[in-house]
Amino acid sequence: MFEKSIKAYEEACEVIPGGVDSPVRAFKSVGGTPPFIEKGKGAYLYDVDGNKYVDFVQSWGPLIFGHCDKDIEDAVIETTKKGLSFGAPTLLETQLANEIVEMFDNIGKVRFVSSGTEAVMSAIRLARGVTGKNDIVKFEGCYHGHSDSLLVQAGSGMATFGSPSSPGVPADLTKHTLLCEYNNIENLKKCFEDSSDIACIIIEPIAGNMGLVPASDEFLATCRELCDKNGALLIFDEVMSGFRASLKGASGILKTQADILTFGKVIGAGMPVGAFAASKEIMSNLSPEGKIYQAGTLSGNPVAMAAGLVSLKKLKANPKIYDELNQKALKLVNGLKKIANENNISLQVNTRGSMFGFFFCEESPTNFKEVGKCDFKRFATFHHEMIKKGFYFACSQYEAGFMCTEITNEDIEACLEAASIVMKNL
Ligand SMILES: *Cc1c(COP(=O)(O)O)cnc(C)c1O
Repeated sequence: MFEKSIKAYEEACEVIPGGVDSPVRAFKSVGGTPPFIEKGKGAYLYDVDGNKYVDFVQSWGPLIFGHCDKDIEDAVIETTKKGLSFGAPTLLETQLANEIVEMFDNIGKVRFVSSGTEAVMSAIRLARGVTGKNDIVKFEGCYHGHSDSLLVQAGSGMATFGSPSSPGVPADLTKHTLLCEYNNIENLKKCFEDSSDIACIIIEPIAGNMGLVPASDEFLATCRELCDKNGALLIFDEVMSGFRASLKGASGILKTQADILTFGKVIGAGMPVGAFAASKEIMSNLSPEGKIYQAGTLSGNPVAMAAGLVSLKKLKANPKIYDELNQKALKLVNGLKKIANENNISLQVNTRGSMFGFFFCEESPTNFKEVGKCDFKRFATFHHEMIKKGFYFACSQYEAGFMCTEITNEDIEACLEAASIVMKNL
């Protein structure tokens, strides 16, 4: 049933480290080998062995309209015919920037890059440049891309100073990254007592990289207050939650507002786009208007901009979309929870707009340490069995799930039916 994928994986491993271009794709945390994808259409993925799956990953978030959306596809093809890249300004960049600026009261200008990693890395440089300070505060379990100063884990000795979480990252580059526990107000306050050199707090206001774990309102209000009191900037990393949790992302459903926002994933609708944005005043510090350097040969790529522009216009034209996607997400996770409970399995579930998450554990996790207590073996078995039945979930309990407009109630009902068989043997 997976013969061609297994062979493809072996061949890929010969020439690509681990056979993949981004580690999570390798299925390491659930075991087995990943299906190699031949094509997608709407809600479905088709692998090289001819298996069909309902896709609850949607390229890890970008595809809110599912695969091969006709409008996005048409825009990409039409733009492609005019040339792939010019390294010169195009109207499309201003159009997409306008669409974004119009949406947010706290945003006056935006700069486009080619990935979420780049967006966050640049936002942090901007925060440091504007404040003239060096330290950044990051939370355990939040992922902000793979740039050096953000690949940190809790240090063994000191409470707050992070150590590199990957070989190849010098400790000198992470010593300015202060690591705090998510949703832990006391811990965060201590960080600001320990350092008077904090340029910014960077946070996923709705964390989607340790499963789906939202920050509490009180915690985010404290982030805001501490930044204001100490001359630091608050960065909401909305690379995942942007245009996903709501039209305005987490910012659209939370009281607390950030100084700088970062975007990725949905903003490119499947093409490589990232962006960071802030008030005109903050953004004017960016080169060539200001002195803080940031650049990119393919930044604002016309084909990618065209995809993002159509996608964003479609989302704006249909604001009910997020309620509909949330209804579907709730139907899925509440259904899973009910089935789990019938089988004496504890399952904790969360949704935010089109994002969802579920954890095999007794209580709903609020931070990375608590997520770590989940039953990962049980998740792995669940994942494996669901794949075999044609349901493609994210291959790690540390990842969120994504609903798209093309997934139907019937797809979800079929998924729950499959889950009721799988859960019997967990
Ligand atoms: C995916 C993600 C990133 C990194 O984006 P890439 O496009 O993979 O570089 C950064 N922050 C968050 C919150 C993300 O989910």
